[in-house]
Amino acid sequence: SASRGLGYACATRQALEGVDEVMAARTRDTMEEAADRIRAEAPGVTIGTVAADVTADDGIQALLAACPEPDILVNNAGGPPPGDFRDWDRETWHKAIDANMLAAIFLMKETVDGMMARGFGRVVNITSGAVKAPISILGLSNGARAGLTGFVAGLSRETVARGVTINNLLPGPFDTDRLASNFAARAKREGKTPDQVRQESAAHNPARRFGDPDEFGAACAFLCSVHAGFMTGQNILLDGGAFPGTL
Ligand code: NAP
Repeated sequence: SASRGLGYACATRQALEGVDEVMAARTRDTMEEAADRIRAEAPGVTIGTVAADVTADDGIQALLAACPEPDILVNNAGGPPPGDFRDWDRETWHKAIDANMLAAIFLMKETVDGMMARGFGRVVNITSGAVKAPISILGLSNGARAGLTGFVAGLSRETVARGVTINNLLPGPFDTDRLASNFAARAKREGKTPDQVRQESAAHNPARRFGDPDEFGAACAFLCSVHAGFMTGQNILLDGGAFPGTL
């Protein structure tokens, strides 16, 4: 899921490192525009595109048809909406679990055996800082992503002896469309302007700013490189130091 934001930044960085890629997103137009931008920045690589919903079986099959033997898998999907758990019915929970837990698990199911057979593989799941420190209005995210994190903790120890590492990257606040929509929702609740919320929020971060998606893409490219072969099952927080713990 690479047409915008963090997924796009990861796709761009990997292309600049010479990786041929297949990008996915549900909206074809924005994805094709994104792919063209990457092709212009990294003319030596092949960038394929698939309009697919990673929460649907046919979406996963379309992706595998376009890229049957990936060496690198970066899992990403949109985050669930904020809200109050009292308003969330079973269907709402199922959507969050599909997008933020099962899509990644099913894509790993289809790809890690081939990676192990070939002796090399890298999986990076884009999760959230909410896995480490819950964000109360994002209960759907706190819950669903914790499930993925627990699953990866187990699987990542089964694949590493065959050259396949699996890690999770946990974004704090990065300047993407997703962040802008969270600010708009918070501004409405608190009777402020989105700009006020943005400034207050940046001021609370030890870095006094939001992350640049390219910083996220660079961290992802490192995890996917040959240099990170001894690193598996890790949850790496990129948040400007916002999480206040020593470890
Ligand atoms: P974003 O700007 O909303 O981008 C999401 C990307 O995923 C888009 O390319 C979108 O394209 C695609 N996508 C969404 N659902 C999909 C699906 N079901 N199937 C295929 N593609 C799908 O989000 P972002 O800010 O880059 O964040 C990425 C992830 O990190 C999200 O899960 C978000 O919750 C999490 N996160 C972000 C931040 C932050 O600061 N930005 C912080 C914590 C966690 P289409 O809509 O066209 O499908």
